[in-house]
Order: sequence, then structure tokens, then C-alpha cells
Amino acid sequence: MKVQVAIIGAGPAGLLLGQLLHNAGIETIILEQRSQEYVLGRIRAGLLEQGTCELLRRAGVGARLDREGLVHDGVELSILGRRFRIDLKQLAGKHVVIYGQTEVTKDLMDARAKSGAKIVYEAEEVTPSGFDSASPKVSYRKDGKEHTVSCDFIAGCDGFHGISRQSVPDGAIRTYERLYHFGWLGILSDTPPVSEELIYVHHERGFALCTMRSRTRSRLYLQVPLSEDIADWSDAHFWDELKRRLDPQTAAQLVTGPSIEKSIAPLRSFVAEPMRFGRLFLAGDAAHIVPPTGAKGLNLAASDVHYLSEALISWYAEKSGQALDAYSARALARVWKAERFSWSMTKLLHQFPDEGAFGRKMQEAELEYLATSKAAQTALAENYVGLPY
Ligand SMILES: Cc1cc2nc3c(=O)[nH]c(=O)nc-3n(C[C@H](O)[C@H](O)[C@H](O)COP(=O)(O)OP(=O)(O)OC[C@H]3O[C@@H](n4cnc5c(N)ncnc54)[C@H](O)[C@@H]3O)c2cc1C
Repeated sequence: MKVQVAIIGAGPAGLLLGQLLHNAGIETIILEQRSQEYVLGRIRAGLLEQGTCELLRRAGVGARLDREGLVHDGVELSILGRRFRIDLKQLAGKHVVIYGQTEVTKDLMDARAKSGAKIVYEAEEVTPSGFDSASPKVSYRKDGKEHTVSCDFIAGCDGFHGISRQSVPDGAIRTYERLYHFGWLGILSDTPPVSEELIYVHHERGFALCTMRSRTRSRLYLQVPLSEDIADWSDAHFWDELKRRLDPQTAAQLVTGPSIEKSIAPLRSFVAEPMRFGRLFLAGDAAHIVPPTGAKGLNLAASDVHYLSEALISWYAEKSGQALDAYSARALARVWKAERFSWSMTKLLHQFPDEGAFGRKMQEAELEYLATSKAAQTALAENYVGLPY
């Protein structure tokens, strides 16, 4: 089989790239190792920057997002029992939209199926090769049969554990990483959100976040040690601990109910440089990971795809490799700023016992400054709504 671009991975990055390229008349195949149901069932991100929404509209999958997405003009912080709001709209001129990653994925999968463009689920042993030459290939096995796809370019959109980055020779890639000594215990629950907007909670017992997927579905997180066993967290235990970290008024308003999903996610900062290796391009989590505190993971996958789709479209339309040559540097410039923001939000809001009493005082002083300074709130708002592409 021959296509112009072979895309590895049907997460948000691979599906969105596939859609934008298909709309531009470029022939693609998407190879995904999991089943469609498995990919759709993964509960992950839920907050979209305005730029991500615009990109989804441009890809032709914005209708349900515009109908069902919840527009948030602000975000709240609860610091040691005191709540205050950061007005995103007023300070940064933009809003964010609550719309689950599962819904983004569903819209993109539906569009792919409708377009008739190729997508293979449950593709085994997907292997990119020859990307240092002009004729790369991707091989895979499906239902016991071996297949080989010849292509002009490979897009590695296969997430942090994917094969694309692993296929690059060690000497050609440099990685930067920070691991955190805690994770986020999250539950999904069909209960109304405790507030119209997100509440980020800094508390001496640990960070908490009250977010949502809709007006009837809440997503709630607690900072927990990495050693924590999910089996030790009954729903009642989770709600009790969350209440202890909220201010008394919010705790009293919290509606509790059974969880429909519960998991612990470790936190990590990670960047691989560059994001291009001959005719292989990395996009999304395949190239970088952020701790979820800044809500940037999915949004960074979208901005990478914006740059990469533009570059590939310009290659086919104008026979120009200039944008492809610039892809890695353009994408990484935005990636590093989002890495900085996600790291700084993580440092600001979580408990770091290793930092001692001085570290705690520095954190409190910074939070107090944020609560009272328009300049500090503007800087947070500008980053939170997403820096321009
Ligand atoms: C548990 C968890 C919770 C998260 N919560 C948040 C959050 O609250 N907010 C936020 O902003 N971000 C969050 N993120 C991050 C966000 O979900 C990711 O940034 C986003 O999914 C990136 O999209 P992607 O397409 O690059 O990668 P992925 O969504 O990981 O998609 C990669 C795809 O490639 C497939 N694949 C992998 N290896 C292969 C292979 N060898 N062959 C073929 N296919 C392969 C995978 O099955 C997957 O479908 C979370 C991530 C995780 C893991």
C-alpha cells in the first residue's frame, strides 16, 4: 500500500492531523494498536484552549463542541481556605472550554469514518523504518497478516510509550525529564460540579482540583503519594478527603455520589528534542509530557498538529520543504513555554515536604502575591488560556 502520510496513533494528535490532511486532499492512513472502544474509553483531559477549539472547527469537527462545550471566562483558586477568582476574559481577552478528550476523540473518529479515509485499529507491531531516506515505510500485522505501507512521511502521534520516538537512534535525540514524588488520584462522578468554574486548591493536606466534564458530570482530583494503592480509596474516603481540603462553604455545597472511574496518574515533565528525524515527525505526547496542573497536554498536541499540518500541506501544495524544516523549532518554542507554565503551576499549588519550612514560606508568599497582584494574575491568565500559535 502507498499513501502520502502514514500516521501512527489514533489519539487526539493522530486523528486531528489525519482530518486536517484529508481535508487538504492528502492521502493518509492511521495505524492504532488499540481497539476503537479502548481509545474512546480512556478518561483524560477536558479543558480546551480557544486555539484548540478554532483548530477543531477548521478541521470540520466543531459543531458538537460549540453546542455542548462549557465556556469558562474565569478560574478559581482556593488558598488555605480562601477562594478568589482569576478573570481570564478580562485579563487575557480569551476563555477556555470544557469538553472531554473522549468527546474530541469521538467527533474525530466519526469524521474519519464518514470521510472513508483509512484507519486500522488493533494494528500489531507497528514499525516505522527508512525515515532517514526518501522512501520511509511502516509495517504492521493485522489479523495475523503482515502489511507494509510505503509513504512520503511518517507522523509519530503514538503517545509517550509509542514506538516512533523509540525508533530514533539514541545519538540523534536528547531528552529532558522531571519526575514528581506524587500523583493525582482522580474520580469521575455523575454529580453536579460544585462550582460553575474550576477550583484549584492549595491546602496543607495536599493539592486538589474540582473540575468537570459537563453540567452533570464532575471530575475531581487529589494529590496523593505515588506509593498510594487505589484499592485503599473507597468513594467515601475520597469525598471525605476532598472535603477536608476545600474551604468550609464549598465543602458544604459538594454533592457526592458513586464514582464511575477512579485512577492514579503519576506526574511528569518530559521533552524530546528535536521533533523531526529525516522523514519522521513527532507530535503530541510522543515528544513531550506535562503535569496536568496547567491543562496543557491535549492543547499542546493540538498546536503541534497545527504546525505539522501546515508544513505538510505546504510541501504538497508548493513543493516547499521550508515549513517542514522549521517544524521542530516552531513546535518546541511553544512546548517549552507550556512546560514552564505546567511546572510552575505544579510547584505553586502542590505540597513538597522535601522543600522544608523555607520552601513552604516561599510558596505562601507567591500565592499571596498572586491573590493580590493584577500583574501576576495576568501572567497566569495569559498562559492558562494558551499562548498564541
Ligand atoms: C491518565 C492521564 C490523564 C490525563 N489527564 C489530563 C488532563 O486532565 N488534562 C490534560 O490537559 N491532559 C491530560 N492528559 C494528557 C492528555 O491526555 C494527552 O496530552 C493527550 O492524550 C495527548 O494526545 P496524543 O494524541 O499525543 O497521545 P495519546 O492520547 O496518548 O494517543 C496516542 C495513541 O497512540 C497509540 N499507540 C501507542 N503506541 C502505539 C504503537 N506502537 N502503534 C500504534 N499505536 C500506538 C495509543 O494507543 C494511543 O491511542 C492525561 C494523560 C493521561 C495518560
